[in-house]
Amino acid sequence: TTHLVWFRNDLRVTDNRALSAACEDPDAHVIAVFIATPKQWRKHDMAPRQAAFIYQHLLALKKSLHERGIPLHYQQCDLFADSVTWLEQFARDQKVDALFYNNQVEINEVERDAAVDKALSPDLQIRRFDDSLLLPPGSVTTGDGSMYKVYTPFRRAFIERLSESDCRSLAAPKAREHPHQGKPNAIKPFDYPQEEIGDDFPVGEDAARDRLRRFCRENVQDYNDKRDFPAIDGTSTLSPYLAIGVLSPRQCFNRLRTENPDVLEKRDGSAFGWLNELIWREFYRHLLVAWPSLCKHQPFVDWTRGVAWREAADDLKAWQEGKTGYPIVDAAMRQMKATGWMHNRLRMITSSFLVKDLLIDWHLGERYFMTQLLDGDLAANNGGWQWSASTGNDSAPYFRIFNPTTQGERFDKQGQFIKKWIPELADVPEKDIHQPHRWAEKQQRVLDYPHPIIDHARARKDTLAAFEAAKSRA
Ligand code: FAD
Repeated sequence: TTHLVWFRNDLRVTDNRALSAACEDPDAHVIAVFIATPKQWRKHDMAPRQAAFIYQHLLALKKSLHERGIPLHYQQCDLFADSVTWLEQFARDQKVDALFYNNQVEINEVERDAAVDKALSPDLQIRRFDDSLLLPPGSVTTGDGSMYKVYTPFRRAFIERLSESDCRSLAAPKAREHPHQGKPNAIKPFDYPQEEIGDDFPVGEDAARDRLRRFCRENVQDYNDKRDFPAIDGTSTLSPYLAIGVLSPRQCFNRLRTENPDVLEKRDGSAFGWLNELIWREFYRHLLVAWPSLCKHQPFVDWTRGVAWREAADDLKAWQEGKTGYPIVDAAMRQMKATGWMHNRLRMITSSFLVKDLLIDWHLGERYFMTQLLDGDLAANNGGWQWSASTGNDSAPYFRIFNPTTQGERFDKQGQFIKKWIPELADVPEKDIHQPHRWAEKQQRVLDYPHPIIDHARARKDTLAAFEAAKSRA
């Protein structure tokens, strides 16, 4: 028998349910495949940096699979539809008896998988697994079986189910006694814009697991106190690995529980604080499955469709380039452009600034983030943007509007983070860093840094009026 494992966004050998199941029968020949779909990725606004991260991890995956006697084949197609046709032929050519893969939650991916299942079954056995979540979508529901719209009750029910469920991580499969003799083709660079990954995110499962272990051992106990301050390394920075499946959420949860056995009981502790973020990740994915229209970027709250957004290409550009004149916003946007990662507090501040200060359509921000982020993930990004834009379920209410200056004062008091990313402000004293032009005027100096492109107090009023008008029209 020949088993085919189709890797998608689960680029790891440890705790990979589809791979482990394919390897259960010791006599089976196991082969693996990855299909790059650059045209589809462009449609999904995938960041070139994330494509590079996937590429590097494919090379690493090929090596670890090879050590286990499993060849990883590689193919590039344009779109998902083309990958279905190619996979069907490949499976027949390789005389595959069973196809194994881990489910994805996004609508195009779900439709692609349905097409594959239709094309290949019943000739082939198809075995699919829920692997990218602690609990499968649809398994945490209200009394009448529907998905929660609000996070807190979802979390309560989630934790109840979690404590009953089997979340053990699976070990990486052992080397095959009968390695497959087929010679896989080379993994060529994708037909996609090339970009460097940078040094912040080393490649490989081992690197990801080391980071997880270190974080759970040394940092998680301070998470609640430090997680909001971008100048401090207070969060795990595991999101790029989770986004492409180099690490599984079960590995995160199990490592957390090993270091903090009472994590589920001590709800005010920092370990629980971190688990809470993993549950937000689950929440947004469960939502996507319950409301696939979210994948098509539809707002959850219908009346927000009517908000009259400003057409302001120059302001959008200033935001993207980190030149809004609000230091915390600009530092954050520059961090993302340079590294592909942005601190969560800053994602909240910058998204709020685009929507609630510049009154620019949140879809443009959502899209721009995807084109930049190493951890770009439809569910989390869409969830985050809809939260900030007050268009999502259980979002910040539309009248809650961050003041970008006071947010900077609270979360980067001494301007350490700002100074790291905005060298033009190097001479500005700590106490003036959030309003540098006030200081410059007093000193009669001219800064090579823009004045604020919008007045926050006025912007706030305009935004409230725009949301209220849309609401009253609905
Ligand atoms: P930690 O604080 O260590 O959290 C651990 C893990 O939990 C993260 O790696 C991530 O997988 C998950 N997580 C944490 N916070 C959230 C959250 N609010 N929603 C969903 N999952 C969460 N996260 C992404 O992974 N990809 C995105 O494209 C993305 N876009 C975002 C856009 C906006 C506007 C906002 C407000 C948030 C977005 N987030 C996104 C969520 C969050 O900002 C990042 O997951 C987090 O900053 C990653 O850093 P970390 O790994 O150090 O997180």
